[in-house]
Parts: sequence; C-alpha cells; structure tokens
Amino acid sequence: MAHTMKAAVMKGIGKIDIEEMAVPIPASDQVLVRIKSVGVCGSDVHYFVEGRIGDYVVEPPFILGHECSGEVVEVGEDVTSLQPGDRVTMEPGIPCGRCQSCLSGRYNLCPDVVFWATPPVNGVFCEYVVHPACFTFPLSDKVSYEEGALVEPLAVGMYSAKRACAEPGQSAVVLGSGPIGLVTLQALRACGVMRVVAVDLVELRLEKARELGASLVLNGKKDDVIKMIMDYTAGRGADMVFETAGSVITTQLTAGLAARGGKIILVGLPSQDRFEYDMIQVTARELDILGIFRYANVYQSCVDLVNNKAVDLKSLITHRYPLEKTQEALEFAHQHKHESIKVVVNL
Ligand SMILES: [Zn+2]
Ligand SMILES: [Zn+2]
Repeated sequence: MAHTMKAAVMKGIGKIDIEEMAVPIPASDQVLVRIKSVGVCGSDVHYFVEGRIGDYVVEPPFILGHECSGEVVEVGEDVTSLQPGDRVTMEPGIPCGRCQSCLSGRYNLCPDVVFWATPPVNGVFCEYVVHPACFTFPLSDKVSYEEGALVEPLAVGMYSAKRACAEPGQSAVVLGSGPIGLVTLQALRACGVMRVVAVDLVELRLEKARELGASLVLNGKKDDVIKMIMDYTAGRGADMVFETAGSVITTQLTAGLAARGGKIILVGLPSQDRFEYDMIQVTARELDILGIFRYANVYQSCVDLVNNKAVDLKSLITHRYPLEKTQEALEFAHQHKHESIKVVVNL
C-alpha cells in the first residue's frame, strides 16, 4: 500500500493546493478508508471564502470536507464489525463519550467533540482517512459512493424531524429548498409526514422539492406564502415549521406560520446573531422553539433509508469535480448557488 496520499489543502482564503501527505495508520479501534466521494457543504464554502465561522478560524494549512464515503482498506486489531472491501459512510464527529452531554445521549453537544473540517480538526478532501469503526456504517452494494457521502446532510434532516417528534398526520413547512431543506423534506416523508410545504425563491430548487414529494411548493418571490399556508392548513398553521434557509427574514416568518402549540425548528444559521422576533406569538400560542446543532443517534436510520432506496440523494447532485479541482468545486458552489444544489468531489 502507498505511504503517501494526495490532499486538497487550504493554504489561505480562496486558495487550495494539492499536496502529498502521509497516509494515516489506524489505531486498534479504527479503520483506514480510501475516500471515494466528498460532498461540498455550505460550511466548507464558508470557511473557504471567509476563513472562519464564528469563533472557528482556519489556520492554514487546513483540509476541508466532512461529508464522505469510501472503501475500507485496513482495520485495527480490535475491529470486528468491518473488513477490507466494505463500502462505508462515516459519521464525521467523534464525541468524548464521558461528559454529561455524551452520557445523556446528546453527544452532538459534547464540548470536546472532534469533528472533521472544524478548525483545528482536518477534514477529508484527501485520499485516505482513519476513523473509529463505531462511527463507520456499511453501505449496500446498490448505493453509490456519492449517495453514501450525502448521508451526512440527510442526518441533519432526520435529526431535525426526530427532534420535532414528526409523525403521520402532521403538517410541516420547510423554509428553504437547498440541500438541507430537501433532505429535511425527505426525512419528514420517511417519518410519515405527508403534508409538507416547501418554500424557496429559486425555481430549480422548488422543482426538485416537488419531485421529492413536497405536497405544496411556494415561491417566496411570487406567492403570498403566509396566506397560502394558512389556506392549506385550514387556517391553523403548520404543526412544524423548519427554517433551513438561514436568513433573518425566513426565521422571522416562522412564528406566524406555526399552528397553536406548534413547533419551530431552527436548522439554518442566520447571518445576524440578533434580530426582532414576534415573541408574543410564542407565548400566547405556546410554540416550542427547537435549535438544531448537527445530529446524534440518527446515522443508522439514515443509512437504512439510503440502503433501501427510501430516500433519493442522487438527484440532489448537480455538479461533480475530481479531487485535483477541489478549489474549482468550492468556487463553483459559492458563485453558482442558484444553478446548483449539491456539488461533490469524486476520487
Ligand atoms: Zn455538511
Ligand atoms: Zn462528551
């Protein structure tokens, strides 16, 4: 086996070079995976363009990428669940397993989590990675590596649906039909929620939402969104309102779209930390506001859905690049948001 590998290394804002690095060696509980496909996430683009997200600042050299799949090539001596040749997808965050958050099952809130492509932890725009076997999930032979990579964003949608206790008979609004909005829509349908209204400003994304099962599709530029959602829900509002667009305006819309006793699920990260919100609606109509930070305990359910073709991740992919063109992939995802949905890097 080769001892060196290629990696797409961020050397500064907007600059990525291909470099040779040592192939990592798996510890006893880890597997070595040859990476096959990596999804470009909004957070990767953000780090690439701005060099930071909040308090997380990129100190080059740094490797982006956290949505990935690949083939197991070597296993540590204590690993019994996987073997070389297995096709896998990996949950990118490794929690400490000992703190109160971890012990309570909400390990996504672990203060010591080690999460790919979150400074200073390197990501996976490279040829090989080592990962704990317990956060590595087998894919069926019928699932492509590209689909396997997109289990990661699906996990965000599934965790959001689960945190909202989504179940058949309920209605939902999903604000934003980007990758996260589209996986949230699919996770809701997988949970049995059949009335899902998708709202976006971009026609390409709305078409995709319609294809993927949205029962009503609204264009915020042309449609009277509030009135149409009220009509659709017989004047009640929706049981669950998911904000995935990450904008102040859509976040402010949420309270007015929720039914009495409904839930507001904040998945997107608004560009502003503080803004006005109609709090009287929250108290008077007893709304629950739920924040979403990554996910916990949903990877297996997402892998099951993907392995059984109960969700469609393939049709989210609009553009593909090789590892050597990771810089172009990130630039394209940044500059052509409206003509693309998901950009992937294939190895
Ligand atoms: Zn992501
Ligand atoms: Zn912990």
